[in-house]
Amino acid sequence: MVNTLYFFIIAILVFNLLFSIILEQINLAVRSIKLPDLISDVYDSDNYLKQQEYEREKVRFSQIETIFGSILIIFFFSLKGFGHLQLFVSNYSNSIIVQTLLFFGILGLVSFLISIPFSYYDNFVIEEKFGFNKSSKKLFFIDNIKTLLLSTIIGGILIGFLTWLYTKNPHLFWLMALGVVLIFSLLMNALYSSIILPLFNKKTPLKEGDLKHKVLSFAESQGFSINNIYLLDGSKRSSKANAFFTGFGKKKKIFLYDTLTNSLNNEEIVAVLAHELGHYKRHHIWVNLIIGIIQSSIFLYFFNLISQSAIFTQVMGGTTNTPVFYLNIICFVLLINPVETILGILLNLISRKMEYSADSFANKYGLGQDLGTALKKISSLNYSNLTPHSLYVIINYSHPPLYERLKALNFTNELQKSI
Ligand SMILES: [Zn+2]
Repeated sequence: MVNTLYFFIIAILVFNLLFSIILEQINLAVRSIKLPDLISDVYDSDNYLKQQEYEREKVRFSQIETIFGSILIIFFFSLKGFGHLQLFVSNYSNSIIVQTLLFFGILGLVSFLISIPFSYYDNFVIEEKFGFNKSSKKLFFIDNIKTLLLSTIIGGILIGFLTWLYTKNPHLFWLMALGVVLIFSLLMNALYSSIILPLFNKKTPLKEGDLKHKVLSFAESQGFSINNIYLLDGSKRSSKANAFFTGFGKKKKIFLYDTLTNSLNNEEIVAVLAHELGHYKRHHIWVNLIIGIIQSSIFLYFFNLISQSAIFTQVMGGTTNTPVFYLNIICFVLLINPVETILGILLNLISRKMEYSADSFANKYGLGQDLGTALKKISSLNYSNLTPHSLYVIINYSHPPLYERLKALNFTNELQKSI
């Protein structure tokens, strides 16, 4: 049994690696020489060549990172690295809570340190070369320190508390953990914009004027009261654009990246926000919450089934005849991976459906044309791939590709209209 599971996990890891490489290659290989009219003006010909080059470099680099990471995990797992780490932390303390925190703390720190050179190269070599990177090395360093501190504090509290619950009642652990996960995600949602966001970005209230007036009057016409509209200084890191809402119920805050307001006109920004309001109006926020609860319940229930068996501990290289909580967690994470992939495909499908629905909401209020030009500008700003392979979309895309969205909006090019 232990051997079968051992080879099964290696097979999953190898399959994942090969599958992701093949999928990226398929996606790179499809390049339509002539773009459909609807999206032919997103890039001019020089920029389109640059975009293709950018795409190739990004994929090549992320493949190197994936291969490196996968080989590292396969080696670490084969050489019983997790078991050795367990011996190390159990020599250090008898408390299961301290052991669990140390175990995940060491794994987390090591993978964080390994990821730094990769993200440095991505930012200061690739993104820099194509003119996206606006961050300084100092800001990059400070961002990383903040991320490390934040994940240590939040992750430490969460893991420590969950382990404590497990020691109290292993049989009911999954149900209690479900409650904790639910409260935690609601809390993060509520506190994100007031506590975490200000650590990384400066927010300034949007000044009075045409844009603010237009946004407020559309939101009010939909029955939302907007507390505040903020501009975020996203341009200090990257030239890529974004916007989002936060808050529960009818009271909302809106955050706009300055990269968006610098490139889109006021009507286009209102159309983007109408799309976001569409997500609320059509209850997508609740759909996501319910999906999250169902997913967590299934995963925690399955974890419950394996958490009390020493077989999984031994698969991970543990030498005890009693189950070790944190080794079983790692084993579970590795084993559940294929289920996660299949579930991810389903979730992406639902997400793409909701994107079409939010687009059609904006369209209903006569904002389809503006949303169309906004989406084109955002695609161009982000150097989006205009012709992804359909299999790649099915597996990886939470948003439909630009061309499909424009078609669904019945978008017509200005050029075509004037003819
Ligand atoms: Zn959306």
